[in-house]
Amino acid sequence: MALGTEWARAWITASARVIAEHRVELITLDRAIGDGDHGENMDRGFSAVLAKLPDLTADATPGDVLKLVATTLISTVGGASGPLFGTAYLKAAGAIAGRPYLDGTALVALIAAARDGIVLRGKAAVGDKTMIDSWTPAVDAAGSAVAAGKSEAEVLKAAADAAEQGAADTEPLVARKGRASYLGERAIGHRDPGAQSTALLLRAAADVA
Ligand code: ADP
Ligand code: MG
Repeated sequence: MALGTEWARAWITASARVIAEHRVELITLDRAIGDGDHGENMDRGFSAVLAKLPDLTADATPGDVLKLVATTLISTVGGASGPLFGTAYLKAAGAIAGRPYLDGTALVALIAAARDGIVLRGKAAVGDKTMIDSWTPAVDAAGSAVAAGKSEAEVLKAAADAAEQGAADTEPLVARKGRASYLGERAIGHRDPGAQSTALLLRAAADVA
């Protein structure tokens, strides 16, 4: 599939489905080291996005799709993750603005801009046990895949694989940002919910490519 507006729509539709399917898992992760609302927050946000996708005009670009996601998440998702993911999609939209199709370099720009937006807003670094621990390995893996001459689908698969590994790698960490940081060493042994939802979203991107 050439990665244009149809891919972007399919990604977001698949994201809404996968977040709904994993709603309870995300709630359970957040119950262990947060307040238990992450699955609910993400499902509410992506359900609202799904309802708004038909509002896009026929000439919408992939960037327009991501901008719609951003504004919808910002207005419907509370908690830490609403503004963080909202900023991620907003910056990602800006990085690919006006492009009808995305090549590997544009995909790296998209993922890197999303990560940078989250860092700008939340000031987390790698190892703080947040969604950044999923986004940053994804940026690096996507960049390496492009440098190795991989196809767009392979670039997204590399990003999704790295994000899944990054989410798993949050388990032994002590949290330094967000609600989980109040727990100190009691957060050890639990996976960060936002890192897990990031991995789900990037896997959805790869699966529809
Ligand atoms: P809340 O923590 O307000 O209940 P959610 O449960 O929806 O919001 O989201 C929690 C997730 O937000 C965490 O798992 C973590 O990945 C992410 N998060 C929290 N604070 C930050 C931050 N400062 N930077 C990056 N991500 C963060
Ligand atoms: Mg929460």
